[in-house]
Amino acid sequence: MADRPAGLPERIQHYYGGALHDSVSGEEFDVLEPTTNQNYITAAAGGAEDVDRAVAAAKKAFDEGPWPHMLPRERATILNRIADEVSKINDELAAIESYDSGLPIRQAKGQANRAAENFRFFADLIVAQVDGAFKMPGRQINYVNRKPLGVAGLITPWNTPFMQESWKLAPALASGCTAVLKPAEFTPVSANLWVGIMERAGVPEGVFNIVYGDGATAGDALVKHPDTNLISFTGSLATGKIVYANGAEHMKHLSLELGGKSPAIIFEDADFEKALDSTLFGVFSLNGERCTASSRILVQRPIYERFLEAYAERANRIVVGPPSDPMTELAALVHPEHYEKVTSYIEIGKSEARLIAGGGRPGHLPEGNYVEPTVFADVAPEARIFQEEIFGPVVAITPFDTEEEAIQLANDVEYGLAAYVWTNDIARAHNVAGAIESGMVWINSHNVRDLRTPFGGVKGSGLGHEGGYRSLDFYSIQQSIHVTLGDVHTTRFGASGYSENDLGLGGPSA
Ligand code: NAD
Repeated sequence: MADRPAGLPERIQHYYGGALHDSVSGEEFDVLEPTTNQNYITAAAGGAEDVDRAVAAAKKAFDEGPWPHMLPRERATILNRIADEVSKINDELAAIESYDSGLPIRQAKGQANRAAENFRFFADLIVAQVDGAFKMPGRQINYVNRKPLGVAGLITPWNTPFMQESWKLAPALASGCTAVLKPAEFTPVSANLWVGIMERAGVPEGVFNIVYGDGATAGDALVKHPDTNLISFTGSLATGKIVYANGAEHMKHLSLELGGKSPAIIFEDADFEKALDSTLFGVFSLNGERCTASSRILVQRPIYERFLEAYAERANRIVVGPPSDPMTELAALVHPEHYEKVTSYIEIGKSEARLIAGGGRPGHLPEGNYVEPTVFADVAPEARIFQEEIFGPVVAITPFDTEEEAIQLANDVEYGLAAYVWTNDIARAHNVAGAIESGMVWINSHNVRDLRTPFGGVKGSGLGHEGGYRSLDFYSIQQSIHVTLGDVHTTRFGASGYSENDLGLGGPSA
C-alpha cells in the first residue's frame, strides 16, 4: 500500500448545521484502498436520523438564512471564492482521489481545475442571467419570477467523485438552494474536503451539508424525505429506477444521470490514427470507469481487421500499475465488489466473442483490483458484453457494412448517453449523429465538454438535461406573474347575461 495521503482526519464525520457529527447510531463503515483492499479510514454511516438532521439544517438555512435572497453578484462572489479554494488544493485532492478511488495520479491532477471551473461557470451565469418578460401592449405584462427550489438532495457516484459532486453543488448553490450531499460509499474521502472549502469561502451555516453512508439507507432516506424539494442523482440505471419510484410520493423534481454503453462508429474514410488514439483513450482512461466511455466500437468492414490489429497492439502496451505512479495509464478498480463485476463480465465475454487483448489480471500485480485492458472482437449485438454496462477497461468491437447498419447497431441498446462518429464525410457525420439515440454526440473527437451545452442521456441513460442555463432551471422555480395594465375584461357571470362583446373565456390569449 502506498503512503496514506497527508492531512486526512482520523475518521470522516457528517457535516450539517455548520458542525461535524458522528452518526446518531454511532455506526461507521470501512473505506478500502484499492491496491490492497485494506481498510485505511472509517466514515460515519448515516441513517434516517442523520439525514433528518441534515435536511432540517438545510431547510432552516433556506427558510431563514440569507442565501436564497442574496443578490446574484453576492452569491457569485462566494462561488468564485469556493473555486479559488478548490484550485488551491489541486495536489492534495489529486493525492486523495487517486489513493481512495484508484484513479491514476496523472489523470487525477486535472480534477480540481474541472471542479473549480464548474463554480466559476455558474457564478458567471447567475450574474448574466436574464428572465423573460412578455408584453401584451396596453393590456398585460407577464414576467418570470425565478426562485430557488428549496433543499436539494444530491446523490453522487464514485467515479471522479469530487468533480461529480461539484457538478451538482455549483448550480444548486448558484441557484440559491441549500444542499445535502450524499457521496458514494466507496469513495467518501475527497468529499470531506468540501467542509473546509465551504467554510473558508464564507458559505453560511446550513447551506452546505453532507451525510455519508450506504445508498439503501442514507440515499434512500434523502430521496424519501418530505423536505428535500429535488433530487439530483448520478449513478446506475438500476438505482435510478428506484430513485424515480421513490421520488413519486412527494412529487420530487428529479434529474437522473445514469449509465451508458456508448458507441464509437468508425467509417472507412475516418482519420485512422486519430480514431484509434481517441477510442483507446475513450474506454481506458479513468480506468474505464466513466459514464461516457466508448465501450462499443463499431468499425466499417474494409478497415476492420487493420483496426483490430492496431487496437489490440496498443491495448497490450497500456501501462497498468499503481495509481500513485505518474507513468501509470490504467490503475486499480475502485473496490473489490466492482472488480468482481468487471471480471465476471470478462468471463462472460470469453464465451460470447473473440478475446484479442487482456482478459485477466496483469501478472506483475498479484493483489488489488487490477484488470488488464481487455478487448473483444466480433461481438454480436445480442451479446451481454455488447448490451450491458461493464464500467471498466473492457471494450466490445463489432464490424458493420453500411451506414444504416451502423446506426441500427448504435441504437440497439437500452442506453443512450453519448456517441462518437468518425468520418471525413461532412454530410454523413451530421446525418449519422442526428440519427443516433443519445443525449450527446461527438464528431471526430472523444468526450470534450463545453459547460454551456446540454448534458444528459435519453432512454435508460437518464431523465432531464443539465448544463448551462438548464442546470439553473432545474434548481429553480420559474413562476409566471401576470399583471393587468388596463381594465381587466371579465365576462360578467350572474349579471345581466352575456353581452355580444363577450369572448366567453376570460379574455384573449396572446
Ligand atoms: P450506484 O447507482 O450504485 O450509486 C450511485 C449513488 O446512489 C451512490 O451514492 C449510492 O450510495 C446511491 N444509492 C444507491 N442506492 C440508492 C437508493 N436506493 N436510493 C438512493 N440512493 C442510492 O452507481 P455507482 O456504481 O456509484 O456509479 C456508477 C454508475 O454511475 C454507472 O452506471 C455510471 O455510468 C453512472 N454514471 C453516470 C454519469 C452520468 O453523468 N450520466 C456520470 C457518472 C457515473
